[in-house]
Amino acid sequence: MLASRLPQIPHPRALGLSSLKAFRGCPAHSIQNGAPITLTKCRTLHEHSSGRPPLAFVFDIDGVLIRGPKVIPAAKRALAMLEGNNEWGIKIPYILLTNGGGVGEEYRCHRLTKQLGFEIRPSQYIQAHTILKTFAPKFADEHVLVLGGKLDRVREVAEGYGFKNVYTTLDVHAWNPSVWPFHELTSDERHSAKLVDFSQTPISAALVFHDPRNWSLDIQILCDIILSGGIIGGPYRAAEKPIELIFCNPDLLWRSDFSRPRLGQGAFKEAFQAVYKALTGSEYPYIQYGKPTEATYRFAEKVLKAHMGQLGWKGKLPPVGHTIDNPESDIAGANAAGWPSVLVHTGVYEPSQGPPSQRPTYEADDVEAGVRWAIEREMGDLKARAAADLGN
Ligand SMILES: [Mg+2]
Repeated sequence: MLASRLPQIPHPRALGLSSLKAFRGCPAHSIQNGAPITLTKCRTLHEHSSGRPPLAFVFDIDGVLIRGPKVIPAAKRALAMLEGNNEWGIKIPYILLTNGGGVGEEYRCHRLTKQLGFEIRPSQYIQAHTILKTFAPKFADEHVLVLGGKLDRVREVAEGYGFKNVYTTLDVHAWNPSVWPFHELTSDERHSAKLVDFSQTPISAALVFHDPRNWSLDIQILCDIILSGGIIGGPYRAAEKPIELIFCNPDLLWRSDFSRPRLGQGAFKEAFQAVYKALTGSEYPYIQYGKPTEATYRFAEKVLKAHMGQLGWKGKLPPVGHTIDNPESDIAGANAAGWPSVLVHTGVYEPSQGPPSQRPTYEADDVEAGVRWAIEREMGDLKARAAADLGN
């Protein structure tokens, strides 16, 4: 058991760290009725020293904190440690980074807060499409098509980001059902649709927020928009400005409750590109976001830095412990970003199937063991510095 081999974190006083006061003001950790706990009385290290925190964490959610509908019990203990229930009595910054999505950040954080028992704020939560907020100023006054998710939920998300003219493929079908005669709108779909004349509505960008629910309808309309320069049903012509196409999650496969992996947004992209290439002879240029793309990791660093600032920390990013369960998608991103990775055994990866395809920095039975290891790894350095100070 890896967890049993983890070293214990010594008490600061035992190390002569008089300036790092021991954890005293924090109430005993408890979770009651799913209500979030804020350990407001905890001291933070910056009361004693300025600058950056000793470390920070970026957690994957599925398979690390939550599995299916249930919270992994070790996750509550790990978050309690980061909220100040550690021997140093400091709050250690962390954010959550997932390729999931399809609903607004506030809604998802509200649910996570109830599940985990600690307040998860939208400012510390990144889902696949959160990065599209940065595109809102560019497209705020243009017409954009959003794909994926249930009914028009991603329209609401996009409007929340600042996009003003947002349409779904269901809107297009409601405008002219002959655009895809092999589908009839359900009453819920009809209810969700906006009535728009798409022959007069040039589309500037197609943003695949989440996994599309109706691949054939969506592929047809994507092809229509690109081939007709933004006007669905218009003559085939090159657009004055190329239609921008953005995907937010490259995962070919994902794990549901089903016994075998399921096709993800990456599979939809492959299907669209295969059809587009058969029609035109080449694939359509696109932008890809989501783990493990570099852009998403750079975006996560900005979000983490802003969150550190909210907790009162300053300075550069500290070492980031990226705690994940999927060696395929997450370790490559962590390695490219220069983050140490902690692979836990509570999700996709199963040690019985052999060594992981990509080597993490560390493997742990669960997120609690991983957090404990990372704290010891980074805070052990503080011990050495304190010992050196005492020696001078
Ligand atoms: Mg995962």
